[in-house]
Amino acid sequence: LKISLLTDAPKHNLALMQISAWHKANGDDVSLNMPLFPADYTYASILYDWNIRQFNADEYGGPAYVSMGRFPAAKTDIVSEFLPTDVRTFGPDYDLFGLGYSLGYSFRPCYNTCDFCSVPMMTHPDNLHHSIHEFHDSRFDKICLLNNNTFQDPQWKETFEEIWDANLSVIDENGYDLRLLDDEKADALHRTKWATPIHFAWDRMSDEALIINGLKLVEKHKMRSTSNGVYVLIGYNTTEEEDLHRCQIINDYGLTPYPMPYEKNRYTRRFKRFINLHYYRKYKTISAAWNDYQRAA
Ligand code: SF4
Repeated sequence: LKISLLTDAPKHNLALMQISAWHKANGDDVSLNMPLFPADYTYASILYDWNIRQFNADEYGGPAYVSMGRFPAAKTDIVSEFLPTDVRTFGPDYDLFGLGYSLGYSFRPCYNTCDFCSVPMMTHPDNLHHSIHEFHDSRFDKICLLNNNTFQDPQWKETFEEIWDANLSVIDENGYDLRLLDDEKADALHRTKWATPIHFAWDRMSDEALIINGLKLVEKHKMRSTSNGVYVLIGYNTTEEEDLHRCQIINDYGLTPYPMPYEKNRYTRRFKRFINLHYYRKYKTISAAWNDYQRAA
């Protein structure tokens, strides 16, 4: 069979990598992002909802469909819905995107129910802990974890121990939950080799006490570095003062705030640009810098 895989994912797409591995093992000819490829069967995995109408396929899946619900054929996890359950045992096809690192989940779910987040609505294939060796390819000395909330995994420590034993450096695009940090977890983060800076998040004002506790642990375990950052959700249900307050506290603990606009409007675009310029570093407080920045506009 000729199989066509389509996606708007810029770097990698684990579902398509697993589909590719399974089809190649069955002797099929697989192509990626070649819409004119004369395929017998086409899968589209779409990240961004504005791209949903851009793809023609036999099966659709991906995060974009979580909020849409318009495509009856769409599933959020095309691997578990359309292929035999043993497809995951193949491991991803790393050649599909030419990756130089392993990619996968040691734990998929996040049990929190933040109402601005699509993760709780996703169909997760399981709630189990997985060894990294289910997807790690020993050709690589880097691993990219896609976990939504590693510290909710009761066996989180095993993931770190496997990574240390295999002497891997880690890319983690989703970050770590500051609210769940304790000495043992902070020590594990400190002991790990990071290929890219680590991230945390501060989304809700009501989490302030837990976040500050986490920031203190970051400081205690010497992860205080401006190359590490904290995502700050803005344009959802916080005020300008609360946005400034969270950025100030994060900065006071030696980390970099990264505003993440939920709603893109004049204020959130401007605030994000202002923080990302690091203009505030010349000032005593971020509020003073913001006032000057506003006046200069
Ligand atoms: S903790 Fe993070 S991943 Fe979990 S529901 Fe909230 S925003 Fe989503």
